[in-house]
Amino acid sequence: MKIILDKHAGFCFGVKNAVDQTLKAIKENQDKKIYTYGSLIHNRHVTEDLKRKGVEEIENLKDIKDDNSLIIIRSHGVPRSIINEINSKGIKYVDCTCPFVSRIHRIVEDKYCKGYKIVIVGDKKHPEVIGINGWCNNEAIIIDDEKMVDKLPYYDKICLVAQTTFSKNLWHRIKERVKEKFNNAEIFDTICNATENRQKSVIELAKKVDVMLVIGGFNSSNTIKLYELARQYCPNTYHIENAEDLAKETIMKAETIGVSAGASTPDWIIKEVINKMEDLNTLNIMEEYEKSFKTLHPGETVKGTVISYNDEEVFVNIGYKADGIIKKEDLTWDIEQKVSDIVNIGDEIEVKVVSINDGEGNVVLSKKLVDAEKNWYKLEYAYNEKTPVPGVVKEIVKGGAIVEVYGIRAFMPASLFDIKYINDLESYKNDKINVKVIEFDKDKRKVVVSRKDYLLDEKEKKINEFWKNAEVGQKVIGEVKRITDFGAFVDIGGVDGLIHISELSYSRIDHPSEVVKPGDKVEVVILALDKDNNKISLGLKQTMPEPWSTIENKYHIGDIIEAKVVRFANFGAFVEVESGIDGLVHISQISDKRIAKPSDVLQIGETIKAKIIDINIPEKKMSLSIKEVDQ
Ligand code: SF4
Repeated sequence: MKIILDKHAGFCFGVKNAVDQTLKAIKENQDKKIYTYGSLIHNRHVTEDLKRKGVEEIENLKDIKDDNSLIIIRSHGVPRSIINEINSKGIKYVDCTCPFVSRIHRIVEDKYCKGYKIVIVGDKKHPEVIGINGWCNNEAIIIDDEKMVDKLPYYDKICLVAQTTFSKNLWHRIKERVKEKFNNAEIFDTICNATENRQKSVIELAKKVDVMLVIGGFNSSNTIKLYELARQYCPNTYHIENAEDLAKETIMKAETIGVSAGASTPDWIIKEVINKMEDLNTLNIMEEYEKSFKTLHPGETVKGTVISYNDEEVFVNIGYKADGIIKKEDLTWDIEQKVSDIVNIGDEIEVKVVSINDGEGNVVLSKKLVDAEKNWYKLEYAYNEKTPVPGVVKEIVKGGAIVEVYGIRAFMPASLFDIKYINDLESYKNDKINVKVIEFDKDKRKVVVSRKDYLLDEKEKKINEFWKNAEVGQKVIGEVKRITDFGAFVDIGGVDGLIHISELSYSRIDHPSEVVKPGDKVEVVILALDKDNNKISLGLKQTMPEPWSTIENKYHIGDIIEAKVVRFANFGAFVEVESGIDGLVHISQISDKRIAKPSDVLQIGETIKAKIIDINIPEKKMSLSIKEVDQ
């Protein structure tokens, strides 16, 4: 919308002068009661403002009640008789009669005195015309139509003047008719240039705009004339007094709007009208702008194009005034997937509107919700076929947890979290787990899942698999689960086997904890299988070299070695040469002196030096002598 303001719109010189002088008079005459003789100008907004300032409007000098008064003569001027009466009453006055009007008064008075018949072209009810007539003793003939010229009686001397705001065109036609009829007519073109310029200007403007607004009082003749002139060239011409009269519909479809205003229209009213149009236009532009985009509602599913993304968010053009954002948690239920695994720039994706505005003007979208709707069949299939499905523990709630399975919220009771009851589920939050669907009702949107069922299935599968493939002598990897006095239980892939204490080490040990602890990963050998009783015997030491198998290379008769005293017998002391190889120091080989028992000279745990005096590999026996060390 383009708004063109007529450069001649608004206050003319005479009106501006009257308003300025009145305001000045108000300021300088605070002690006086101020009156205007008639309405100062034909604009109610201005006159109401003056009224608020204490200025009273009178139509008759008799209405002046205060002796200390000041009266304003408006730009239209007044009859000579009024000036005389004011002077005779000694009332102070400010004469704001427009100089162009005063000129007419002088012409009329002069010609009247010289015997001319005064003919005024104008509106006989207009104060200016009434005032002019008052300068020729109210004897003028007043016409406003060229036909009225024909009805005029013949006068020898005739003087023709015009109301300053009369239509220039009509004035010319009347003037020509007068010239034709009265050879000796004295014609004074008293139409004010301000009026002429405004009228010419309004015509030119009206020719090139879609809508023409003429602003001014509904009782302002010059405004009415402007309106009539403009309407001849622009059918969509409207006469308004102020911005309140401006209807949105009047201007909404116009591309160009011309604005003119009568001589008594203050600038601020013109500005108000223009401001309102600009506001309406902005509103209209905004409305059109809004209309050019689709409307959105939360919960609606729309298609969009990926325009960019980072590790945490995807930005989507959905043809709305604002772009949409999909946060990573709304992109997929699968926490292990990266954003770049799911979208590429330019991808068309279907998303659900979560919120129209995230507080920063972005539309919040969810792809996960759209996918979830499509994934109900997967859950139904898993339920019917009893197959496991992946899920993410999203929330720990009373009595269990919410597990998101393919983006669909399912409940898992705490008792179904594991094979054994788990008290604290919090540590599972955001874990990806496998579950089985044990209740499914799409209509009620109810899904119950169980990790325990999944784990039990898996355990059973592993047990079956084990018994199917297990063989004595097979080496398997396992994890020590618990320790007892007689051995260690090892999980070898879903089934537990026992390593008896005697199978833990080649050395003599008092407790299994000397060799293993719970959580240790160990390689074991299957020693025996009893499927009927579900018993599996395992050996740990069998995975290590048997110490006696390499003894030939390490020890020889006559070698002096160090060994640790590990236990006593009546006939001597047993010593540990190395792990898995024990030797005997017979009591007779302990000392040169006669001793009653080994503990007389040795202590358990003591390290002694001894000489190897015999090695019997088949029987895994080694004889040692302490007393021969120094020989
Ligand atoms: S229109 Fe012309 S004559 Fe009338 S008040 Fe304004 S300047 Fe004066």
